[in-house]
Amino acid sequence: MASEILCVICHKRKPKRACPGVNGNICAQCCGTEREISIDCPLDCTYLRESRKYEREKPTKLDELPFKDVALSGNFVYEFEMFIGQIGYHIMQYALQNPATVDKEIIDALDKLVRTYQTEQSGIYYESLPEESGALGLFREVKLFIDGLQKQQQERGNIAAVKTGDLVRSLVFLLRMACVNTNGRLRGRYFIDFLRLTFPEQAQAQAQAQAQAKEEPRLIVP
Ligand SMILES: [Zn+2]
Repeated sequence: MASEILCVICHKRKPKRACPGVNGNICAQCCGTEREISIDCPLDCTYLRESRKYEREKPTKLDELPFKDVALSGNFVYEFEMFIGQIGYHIMQYALQNPATVDKEIIDALDKLVRTYQTEQSGIYYESLPEESGALGLFREVKLFIDGLQKQQQERGNIAAVKTGDLVRSLVFLLRMACVNTNGRLRGRYFIDFLRLTFPEQAQAQAQAQAQAKEEPRLIVP
């Protein structure tokens, strides 16, 4: 007699769905409890997509937002839309190129970037580094990108570089966006999804480029 096939996670219940995250069949309960917690769910999984619709049960209260003392006027976001967009796009690019990246790492990296530039604002150069390696990688990448942009603008001379205070405010805005648009799960990538929806064409172009790179035939050396 063939042994009964069970969910590959709990080994108790009957599997109901094919999980692309564990490459096996799992039950609906395990999908619900382990999704983006112990499972690295591919962003295009149909069950993950479905769950996104119901996910944000608890809206973030305004006074729970980080860096309460940093004031952002409506005008500010309008004025720095381009700059904020460039950084946001860069974060998305990094997250898609490094699929292990999760929201918590982005939040941590942004938090430390704000602290670093706040220190710089007071005339001291000191990096507040994230402890965790995923967040540290993103911190370095975004900082390199921002510093590169700043240098480029300074070299052109005609365009003023973004002032450190405005840079801090731009990063605080992105950090708040990330805190509002996340689901709090350990391996949650809700904010990354949010960025994909914000930059749909770029996200698609990048996915295509990555797929193409995978398909590229290997060089045959005679
Ligand atoms: Zn199960």
